[in-house]
Amino acid sequence: MKHWNTPVLEVIESLGTSAREGLAPDEAARRLAKTGPNAYRQAKGESLASQVLRQFKDVSNIILLVAAALSFALAAREGSGFLEPLVIVAIIVLNMVLAVTQERGAERALEALADLNSPTCLVLRVGSRIEIDTADVVPGDVLVLKTGDLVAADARLVEATGLAVDESSLTGESEAAEKDASALPEEDAAIGDRSNMVFSGCLVTAGNATAVVTATGMETEMGRIAGYLNETQRMQTPLQLRLVRVVRAISAVALAAAAILLATGLQQGEEFWAMVLAAVSLAVAAVPETLQLIVTLSLTQGVHNMVGKHALIRKLPAVETLGSVSVICSDKTGTLTQNRMSIRRMWAAAPYLPVSVPVAVDGAVEGVAELDLLHKLALASNAAIEPDGEGGSRIVGDATETAIVRLLTEGGETREQLLAERPRVGEVPFSSARKMMTSVHELPQGGYLVLTKGAFDRLPFAPAPAEELARRQEAHDSFAADALRVIALGSRVVEELPASGDLEELERDLTFEGIVGIIDPPRPEARDAIETARRAGIHTVMITGDHAATAAAIARQIGLIGEKGSVVTGKQLAAMSDEELVANVRAYSVYARVSPEDKIRIVEAWQEQGEVVSMTGDGVNDAPALKAADVGVAMGAAGTEVAKAAADMILTDDNFATIVDAVREGRNVFSNIRRTVYFLISCNLSEIVVMLGAQLAGWGTALTPVMLLLINVLGDGIPGLCLAKDTSDERIMRRKPIGRTESFFSQLVVRATLQQTVAFAAVGLLAFWLGCFVEIPGAVAAGLGVGQTMCFFVVALSSVLHVFTVRSRGSVFTRAVSDNMPLVWSAVAMAAVFSLLVLAEPVGRVFGMVGLGWERWALSVALAVVPTLVAEVFKLWENRHETWLYRSRLVRHQSMGEE
Ligand code: ADP
Ligand code: MG
Repeated sequence: MKHWNTPVLEVIESLGTSAREGLAPDEAARRLAKTGPNAYRQAKGESLASQVLRQFKDVSNIILLVAAALSFALAAREGSGFLEPLVIVAIIVLNMVLAVTQERGAERALEALADLNSPTCLVLRVGSRIEIDTADVVPGDVLVLKTGDLVAADARLVEATGLAVDESSLTGESEAAEKDASALPEEDAAIGDRSNMVFSGCLVTAGNATAVVTATGMETEMGRIAGYLNETQRMQTPLQLRLVRVVRAISAVALAAAAILLATGLQQGEEFWAMVLAAVSLAVAAVPETLQLIVTLSLTQGVHNMVGKHALIRKLPAVETLGSVSVICSDKTGTLTQNRMSIRRMWAAAPYLPVSVPVAVDGAVEGVAELDLLHKLALASNAAIEPDGEGGSRIVGDATETAIVRLLTEGGETREQLLAERPRVGEVPFSSARKMMTSVHELPQGGYLVLTKGAFDRLPFAPAPAEELARRQEAHDSFAADALRVIALGSRVVEELPASGDLEELERDLTFEGIVGIIDPPRPEARDAIETARRAGIHTVMITGDHAATAAAIARQIGLIGEKGSVVTGKQLAAMSDEELVANVRAYSVYARVSPEDKIRIVEAWQEQGEVVSMTGDGVNDAPALKAADVGVAMGAAGTEVAKAAADMILTDDNFATIVDAVREGRNVFSNIRRTVYFLISCNLSEIVVMLGAQLAGWGTALTPVMLLLINVLGDGIPGLCLAKDTSDERIMRRKPIGRTESFFSQLVVRATLQQTVAFAAVGLLAFWLGCFVEIPGAVAAGLGVGQTMCFFVVALSSVLHVFTVRSRGSVFTRAVSDNMPLVWSAVAMAAVFSLLVLAEPVGRVFGMVGLGWERWALSVALAVVPTLVAEVFKLWENRHETWLYRSRLVRHQSMGEE
């Protein structure tokens, strides 16, 4: 049966459903069990085995295996027992378990996130509209579609008004396809011509409809395509790609160092195979195999933190881009304001029937008319009262209209009563581009009442005397200056409707009815968030469809512009050439009376200025701007599915402050990665220097292969993982945005790395020398084993201590260690393990250590503290400028606020 070629009643019958009622929940559940979820089957997740195998593609793990093999060979040759090679294998396994578990954890977190992100849709179940997960839709369900929705499954239209659907993903046709429920295309019609069907995954760009589901999941037209597309590539973010290069560079250094070590050792007459093993171990220790894992972990940790702060990341690279955002463009209504609207003032031209609610009413308040301003506004609204499921009722719909309907009900009347006598016969829906809407009502005495409500300066009123116009304007301006959102109403009575059916023709010569002023208070947290952004070097831009005066008043309240600050209107914007806009864009913080289409120009102008732009949006028309922005942000509550699909991030609380929080997290991710890279590199480099230095000095091999591996996994790896997931530093929002191509190695980081490497290496070598050659009265006698053990202990412990100083740019004490308890516990545990190894002979011997005794242990602890102290002094020195810099930046931003 071709659903598009069969009368709709037959289709409905064959699907065993009802267009009015939809399915019953238990029937839907039964069908779901049979057909399976309405989803395109995902490519299977990677199996554990293949993930483990993938680890072996890593250079560093190959080197590890070579080391293990060599050590077995060596042990067999010398008959020295297999303890050492077994220990090496154990460490390799530990390393791999760590990598695989962390990676799987990260993947699971991302999958859970994808679930949170899953779309929903409206269906009829036993006659009432309910919202369900798109995955739960079954054949026979009745979809309720409106502008901005994503079609949940293939469905045959039952009813449709003005429905247009973007089917470009299916047909390649870029124009939206107009749909007609009553059409009956040929049996062999192509997908694009099946005008009485809607298809899964396509976007409703206009109109509304009900449709009965004919196919779900892989059975849909899109599902058939998805079958081919299942092999999606694992996407690498730019940071991950950059890290690959860093890892390669360090690996090259490590291999070169290993070669030099081998050559020197052989020249000094060391045993060949032992020297090869030492060289390979050095390579193992110095290759930063955990680095890439660290980026993944930081990113997922960032995504996880953002979810907790109401920001859902849809595309992983957005986490990084957020850290670089330097301009946040935000809608006013609902994002910077609360979207909790209520009518504050009314100004009526005709006699007004006072309602018993506390609203300041200006203008003609005397006398009684059949319908007053509020009645007519309510007739022209779409908000409705619905049961809230708990015995009470709530008003649902657009926030502006909710304010109107709420005031009416507070006066004891309902919109339904009004509509009963004057049924609505037609509507021109509200659009942000036109900023008005019209509803047409049949009057009991015959004829039609046309009500147009919308922006005061957009309504086509009939000509009026100049003084009358001035009075209206004055009323409007005084409302707007109070930060009120103004809605004007015009009316007309006509004998008949246009023959063409185009109701827009009725919108002319309107009688001025009056205006209402609606208050929408700013969100309390907006002011602070804007200030935080400003200090962080981020420019906030407010974009609204509201009037310039209203926009300016709100912008002042939230501290976006100063007293004299001005507003750019959509009209001025239209008069500007692209070049002019680019040249002046930095001076504009507030745009009023703009259309969604203008947003794209604003985004591009800022980008032209080299800025990284985030843009919010909720409607269908916002989607292109969201795509053009570096970080497109959609509203979770008020946003359409179309906007969400185009966005990189979704705000579940629609709140501006959430964007600023997300930027903080983004910066933190970058900063954690950079710190961890810096930490691991100074650890690795110092190990190289210690090994080479000791060999060149002719003191012998400073660290055995087992020791090197232990340092690598326990001393550097585990603290490094904790560092990668660190909480954010207070000061992170007092710096400039991270440049998009900013290197991990700023001059400061390079200097710090060198300084740390020198400090680590110096104490490591000193420890080795003290252990090998210096007798301490009452302590264990000096010797190679003692030297190696001391060297191991000092290098391992100093890097564990060093993590704490790496955490902050200021002194260690600028950040509470309690911010990162996993780090504290792992550090304590590592320090205990290292002490156990060097103090308890029987345990230590397994790993080739010699008992140090308390004296040498205490001496080693003292040495291990030194690099941390050096780092602290270094930071004090570096920061002497920073304090000054912060201050001068603050001053500059403050003066920016007064522009
Ligand atoms: P924003 O979302 O930026 O506040 P809108 O496009 O929603 O901008 O509103 C722009 C103007 O359109 C408002 O100032 C108001 O005059 C008018 N308006 C908004 N919502 C409605 C509505 N539901 N009906 C009629 N007019 C409206
Ligand atoms: Mg709006």
